[in-house]
Amino acid sequence: MAKLVIIGGGIAGLSAGIFAQKNGFASMILEKNHVLGGECTGWDRQGYHIDGCIHWLVGTKKGTPIHELWTSVGALDGVEIYHQESFLTFEHASGAAVHLYRDLERLKSSWLELSPQDAEAIDDFCQAIEQLQSYEIPVEKPRDLLGPLEKVKLMMAMKDAGLIMRKFGKMSLKEYAKTFKHPALRETLASFLPDGYSASSVFFALAAFTKGQASIPYGGSKKFAQRMAERYLSLGGRIETSCEAIGLHKEGSKVSGVICSNGQTFAADYFIAACDAHVLYERLLKGKYPDPDFQKRYNNPTDYPLGSEIHIAIGYEGTMEEIPRTLRFPVAPFKVNETTIDYLTITHYSYEPDFAPAGCTLLICSINQFPADYDQWHALAEDPGSYRREKSRVGEEVIRAIAMRFPQMQGKLSLLDVATPKTFERYCNAYRGAFMSFLPTVSGTMMSHTGRIKGLQNLFLSGQWLQPPGGLPVALITGKDTIMRLCKIKKQPFIG
Ligand SMILES: Cc1cc2nc3c(=O)[nH]c(=O)nc-3n(C[C@H](O)[C@H](O)[C@H](O)COP(=O)(O)OP(=O)(O)OC[C@H]3O[C@@H](n4cnc5c(N)ncnc54)[C@H](O)[C@@H]3O)c2cc1C
Repeated sequence: MAKLVIIGGGIAGLSAGIFAQKNGFASMILEKNHVLGGECTGWDRQGYHIDGCIHWLVGTKKGTPIHELWTSVGALDGVEIYHQESFLTFEHASGAAVHLYRDLERLKSSWLELSPQDAEAIDDFCQAIEQLQSYEIPVEKPRDLLGPLEKVKLMMAMKDAGLIMRKFGKMSLKEYAKTFKHPALRETLASFLPDGYSASSVFFALAAFTKGQASIPYGGSKKFAQRMAERYLSLGGRIETSCEAIGLHKEGSKVSGVICSNGQTFAADYFIAACDAHVLYERLLKGKYPDPDFQKRYNNPTDYPLGSEIHIAIGYEGTMEEIPRTLRFPVAPFKVNETTIDYLTITHYSYEPDFAPAGCTLLICSINQFPADYDQWHALAEDPGSYRREKSRVGEEVIRAIAMRFPQMQGKLSLLDVATPKTFERYCNAYRGAFMSFLPTVSGTMMSHTGRIKGLQNLFLSGQWLQPPGGLPVALITGKDTIMRLCKIKKQPFIG
């Protein structure tokens, strides 16, 4: 039985582990934290459970290939899905409310009612979303393992996605938003995703959402990852937690072992780095095996920006069923780093009563963060006292803003926790605190990487960094794909 060591027990590492066990490898996962899941996690504070990840999961629609894949790794097996009514409700400073409803017809008529003069733009917008609903993220095989006929089949299946990419891939969301006349519609679109995203992103997100393919599994992110860990263990996998890889033993063009911070060394025939790509190239390989695709991106953060967020968890002594699940609303401006915050996005978890004490509700406010923000948090973290004070200040500003918008909440909101880009870096070794991979911008090009490390035969990279923009489905698919490549090398059929 070939031995396999997987560095990192996030969704990609767990996926690789599950498929490794199914395909006859004797695998083990080394994870730096004491729990598995990586960025797909949650944590407890003051009687609340803070969900740290899933706002939407591509793969919640039964009968689709990606849903089957999630089910096969235990993540969605028998799990109830929460289909929220709207993706986001945007309250404009003028008082107008824009709803991104799941029901596309309802979305269209509500937008037309708000802005009849935008009929043509609204029609084009909804048509493009509808056209993309036929698109399913390809899960069967990675491109490098496709035969010529399979490549043609894939291209045909991607036809509608290709049309949308050609039309909107090189247009920024901000630019696209200007095709609408009503300021509320314009701002809804412009602020839908972080700065720098190409307009195509909004269509992919809303096409998946409006066809019921991007909802939320009940129980949250931590339980989602735990189910995968249980499936892995049930297949005979071995997990070592609190076990951070800090170096690799090499013999010629092969890796022979992983050196861990707890003094242990793990030998194997094959190795998968399902951790952050920068950790692999710079910390584990000490910069000796640079990859041009990654170098190009690390060296050009303008065209290949990384996004992160401030994740502010708030407990509310009350219920919020009557308020849209995710709401963006104007606030009295305050500063975070050099950025003026004049809108906030809050999400509440009324549909998860177990996330809060009886009669209370968990609220999360997410503030997008970009490269300059990371630099500021990084500098601030040098002085732990100042860092803590700044986190509390931002949290209190957010509480003040929520209480202004919802006077009935005054005095009933308490700050549970504030995570910054530095938190994601510390916890997951995420490069510059990135919550996904490189963002798809108008000036960058999309990368699809095989995970092979030139010069090393038995080490592979897996995870969200192989296929920007990352996200949970990419982690799942790339974990499986790495095992498919290993099966090919070993000349054995892949068992899915
Ligand atoms: C706040 C937030 C919200 C998000 N929301 C969504 C969403 O709604 N939908 C969606 O699809 N995606 C979302 N994402 C993105 C998603 O969580 C990630 O794309 C995905 O979890 C990445 O999985 P991964 O396994 O590739 O990497 P990671 O989750 O980063 O896993 C890597 C693992 O390796 C471990 N590790 C790192 N270095 C070492 C080492 N040297 N030795 C041992 N272990 C190591 C880490 O601790 C971690 O467990 C969100 C992310 C964040 C942070």
